[in-house]
Amino acid sequence: MGKIRFEILGIEIPNQNFEFTDLGYVDSIKETIRKLEKKHGYEEGELQNPKQSLKRTIGLAKGFGELISNNIFKNNYIFYLKQNKEEDNIHLRAHEETHALEHMNGLSHLEKNLLENQKVKIKFKEIRKSEVRAEIGAIYALIQRGIIPSKISCFPWDFDFRRAKKLYYKLKISD
Ligand SMILES: [Zn+2]
Repeated sequence: MGKIRFEILGIEIPNQNFEFTDLGYVDSIKETIRKLEKKHGYEEGELQNPKQSLKRTIGLAKGFGELISNNIFKNNYIFYLKQNKEEDNIHLRAHEETHALEHMNGLSHLEKNLLENQKVKIKFKEIRKSEVRAEIGAIYALIQRGIIPSKISCFPWDFDFRRAKKLYYKLKISD
């Protein structure tokens, strides 16, 4: 049994027959989706999510193929556009990695690391919105690198990021 590594989160999970590909920085989210549609035999536009808001199109975690159970996918891809500031890249990539980790039923690994490395007792099952869960992953990755999330200017308009930050600090066990 192999392992799947999430580079920015610094997490490895045992591979339970999932496929995960980090395509890295791409020139166009739209074009990348089109290539994936072709590769996996989907009709053009089939994997496009019309509900994607503009801000979400800077990065994408795409899970599809065989659906193993509710929201757990066999094939998983992440890809993203390069940002100007390194901390924004970390934020974005960790966000997409957390979505992919969730698609592979692996959020318990992140819960464990949050508790062990940062003394934060998160229960992802109690967080209803997947975007807030993904932002918790982003905050984890930033803090692991000594970057204070409040200094991040990347998505200052992002309500989910603010909610995740609030929750993160609320659930931090003081020592
Ligand atoms: Zn997201």
